[in-house]
Amino acid sequence: MKAILIRQPSGLQNTNIEEVEDPKEPVVIRVTSAGLNPIDINVILGKVNYTISPYPHIPGAELAGVVEKVPSGSKFKVGDRVMVYSKIFDETCDRCTAGLEEICRNGGVVGAVTNGGYSEFFGAKEEQLIPIPDSMNFDDAVSLPVGGLTAYHALKRSGLKSGERLLVVGGSGNTGWYALVLGKLMGARVFYVSRKRWVAETGATEWNKEKVDVIVNSLGSDAWDPYMDYLDTNGRLVTFGTLTGRETKLNLAQLYTGERTIIGSTGGTRKELGELARLVSENHIKSRVWKKYNFSEFKKAIEEYGNREGRIVLQSADARSWM
Ligand SMILES: [Zn+2]
Repeated sequence: MKAILIRQPSGLQNTNIEEVEDPKEPVVIRVTSAGLNPIDINVILGKVNYTISPYPHIPGAELAGVVEKVPSGSKFKVGDRVMVYSKIFDETCDRCTAGLEEICRNGGVVGAVTNGGYSEFFGAKEEQLIPIPDSMNFDDAVSLPVGGLTAYHALKRSGLKSGERLLVVGGSGNTGWYALVLGKLMGARVFYVSRKRWVAETGATEWNKEKVDVIVNSLGSDAWDPYMDYLDTNGRLVTFGTLTGRETKLNLAQLYTGERTIIGSTGGTRKELGELARLVSENHIKSRVWKKYNFSEFKKAIEEYGNREGRIVLQSADARSWM
């Protein structure tokens, strides 16, 4: 099969479409769509602090497609449309048995600790697959395993309640977009900070320095200090990204006197991905897809990443997709 393959030393110049062996797993997905997320770009550029395996390496954390092969007795059948849960998990550790696969003690992210989905076919285990509801297209489905689920899990961890005030700092990324949309769906009063005017399409209001109950910070250091003063007593700050840096100062008096809480969040559980798929389908929530590229155009897609006005999806739409 064809795949986007990173050879060492990693970097865009050493990343090309190559012929590789077909997957050997009992369950195989024909990949129709894959998300382009910061993690994928960082893996390609070698800008991650953890071990990438194996090398040469196929990136791609977020994918959806059609079941090509399953063993008999599977609850899936050939032709089923599925999305792939983006975390690797062993199903046996104490975290997994508690339903917290996202923090499996022997886990990691698909496309980082294992080969990912930027390929014609993807070898999976059945437990990684989530059915795509009939009414949902692949663009929307492939926006859920990383972007949508990260936002959903973070909001659930924050304990956001109907009527509370939610501030999303950085609303134009895929995760920020879903945090805004899902926050509205949960009945919160939702505010955004973003230079992109189209973020208002979510129904959220531009933040005007109101006090809030929950802050979603996906940007890291630069988005910390200017906002902590606006976290109300009993407020919760949930964080899952370090785009602008990973270190910050913390005013401990401010934290405890107002009984504020800081929450870390990463990905989400398999159960939540199933919930999210139903929620998105029932409420007709759309991803904001900006551009779609064939896999063969992935370098152009990466060059465009900094200018994006929404999401970039890599696709295998027709015979030219890998040529
Ligand atoms: Zn585990």
